[in-house]
Amino acid sequence: MSATGTAHGADPRPERVTHALVRDVPLPDGLGTLALVTLDNGLDHTKPTTLGPQGIAGLTQVLTALQARARAGEIAAVAVTGKPYYLAAGADLTQVAGVTSREQALGLGRGGHAAYRLLGEMGVPTFAFVNGVALGGGLEVALNCDHRTVAADVRALALPETGLGLVPGWGGAYLVPRLVGIERAVDVVLARPAANKPFSAQEAADLGLVDVVLDAADFLEESVRWAARVLAGEVVVPRRALDDAATWRAVTDAARERLDATLHGSRPAPYRALDLMAAARDTDRDAAFAAEDEALADLIMSDEMRASVYAFGLVQAGRRPTGAPDPALAQPVTKAGVVGAGLMAAQIAVLLARRLAVPVVMRDIDPARVEQGLAAVRAAVERLVAGGRVTSDAGARLVASITGSTELDVFTGCDLVVEAVTEVLELKKRVFAELEQVVAPDAVLATNTSALSVTAMAADLAHPERVVGLHFFNPVAAMPLVEVVRATTTSDAALATAFAVTDRLGKTAVLVADRPGFVVNRLLVLLLGVVVDAVEHGTPVEVADRALDPLGLPMPPFALFDLVGPAVGLHVLTSLRAGLGERFPRSAGLEKLVAEGTPVVRPAPAKGLPQRVDPAVQTVFDAARDRSADAPLDEAGVLDAVRTALAVEIGHMLDEGVVTTPQQIDLCMVLGAGWGFHLGGITPYLDRTGTSEKVLGRRLLPTGVADVPRG
Ligand code: NAD
Repeated sequence: MSATGTAHGADPRPERVTHALVRDVPLPDGLGTLALVTLDNGLDHTKPTTLGPQGIAGLTQVLTALQARARAGEIAAVAVTGKPYYLAAGADLTQVAGVTSREQALGLGRGGHAAYRLLGEMGVPTFAFVNGVALGGGLEVALNCDHRTVAADVRALALPETGLGLVPGWGGAYLVPRLVGIERAVDVVLARPAANKPFSAQEAADLGLVDVVLDAADFLEESVRWAARVLAGEVVVPRRALDDAATWRAVTDAARERLDATLHGSRPAPYRALDLMAAARDTDRDAAFAAEDEALADLIMSDEMRASVYAFGLVQAGRRPTGAPDPALAQPVTKAGVVGAGLMAAQIAVLLARRLAVPVVMRDIDPARVEQGLAAVRAAVERLVAGGRVTSDAGARLVASITGSTELDVFTGCDLVVEAVTEVLELKKRVFAELEQVVAPDAVLATNTSALSVTAMAADLAHPERVVGLHFFNPVAAMPLVEVVRATTTSDAALATAFAVTDRLGKTAVLVADRPGFVVNRLLVLLLGVVVDAVEHGTPVEVADRALDPLGLPMPPFALFDLVGPAVGLHVLTSLRAGLGERFPRSAGLEKLVAEGTPVVRPAPAKGLPQRVDPAVQTVFDAARDRSADAPLDEAGVLDAVRTALAVEIGHMLDEGVVTTPQQIDLCMVLGAGWGFHLGGITPYLDRTGTSEKVLGRRLLPTGVADVPRG
């Protein structure tokens, strides 16, 4: 089941009912009649067809009637297709997250099965004509049919359920491994959702999820003709034999080990999906469908699933940012500048040139650095071309539109300049002061600072109102978040331009106040600080590194530290301590680690597995720390210290008005730090573990918004 919808916690909107419309289509060559069912919610393409209880009940009625017609010999086949652009985008998550009892949850699973199983029990061959998006319960409609065609232009076929705290429980967990083999099924059900990568039509066909790819232009006619050839016995679709029991076992055992190594039991859904797939080989369909119902019922009543639907809803709504000024105030950008040609600058230049389609100039302090930046631009564009994201012609135009120089006057005529020079306040102030000499008085000056005060950066300018923060994350192309920073002096026009640009760059903007570290770095660096502080007080590094495993974060803390760059991490920690106080602890061990350049992590044992702390880090800390202050913690103690610190900090952030709601913090952590949907970002996790109540004396979100409603 499942895929799209908008989360409203305990207060679901009324179901947007998808109807099953039937018409009879004559088959060629006297083969009889094909009953064509079209799933349609009667709304335009901006409102995807989703499947809720009423829609499912309607589908059951329609398919039951068709079964009677099949038995009466009136029809030779049944096919299911969708309204333009969609087969169906899955279960209506709003309805799923509105469920308040396990009985009701069980009913959702059973209802879906009651409808879908008819597609396998029709008495005549059944076909899915996959004309568009087929996600979750939408794809499961097709999987329950005997045969599947897909239009060549379909770009999104997937079973995303395990990423949303669910299992493909309307037949998917049972049918996929039997259809495509257990190894590919593990990819479809577990790996792809984690990577958030749907299949294209051709990929789905290559996998065996669908039988044939047909021309999109006259897809329906072609599908009917293909179905007729199947009925006439002219086309026989080969079905693979079930993998042998030993293979099945070996693949599922390996998949379970991988789940343990990456998720550490932090969320139940992937494990439940794997259990269902492991049993699928030797279970009959009735028992397998009943097991799917039970798994769905347990998961629908889990806090992890509710937090996931909440987070999914935040991400969907995130493209309409809160607090943005009137978009009409935004100024057009016809030429953009980037100051610096380093790691961030080159990536920002490519993004601006690609998405705004304007000339972009970069400036650095010497020709070698400029050339290095331009080489990084060329490499980034080559990756885009190699990945099929832009054509080679467009790639060449993109490279040509980005120029580099050491001269200041290249910025003349820029409506927007983003500075990404070294993180030093005086340097950034000087850069802005110089820019004021060459750009128009209303040109917007943006800073990519990670933790410095944007207000301080603007203070001595002739036009401080034009300065705004645009905090991109590394890697710029992949990270969907931009923290848009409003300094105390920022004008609505500059802010509106920042939002308009962010939107055109395809990023989600969150408006943040000008406080050190904004949202993401403040919490990430705090977390690192607390972990390091535990080591400073005698907790073994390996204990500290493992302690956060139960959170299921994208990587362990020392690997994050390594990714950020130890020197950068220390620099930001130091600057946040200066701005926010001793909650951001000092660590002699960390300073020594950075000074000596000691490796922080060991190589990962295999691709995709976590990098663990290097034992050499222990030696460095042992040499630097003051043992008289020892108070070692165990893993639970470190986890508790981190949870407590995060709750305290979030309390401060809300009091300071860094953002106005916990939802914005969660959106930032999901999109800027990759924290899991199962945590709901972070505040649902702090609520459900009782941390916010204990530390702040209150929940951060009302119960039912991102958890199973409590009493
Ligand atoms: P970097 O060291 O790779 O690049 C900085 C560049 O600025 C260097 O090439 C340097 O020569 C150049 N520079 C210094 N003074 C200059 C001047 N007066 N005029 C023109 N160029 C000048 O650093 P980076 O990692 O790209 O970081 C740049 C900014 O982006 C910093 O403010 C940093 O905090 C922020 N940032 C970094 C990351 C990250 O992950 N690295 C993420 C978000 C934000």
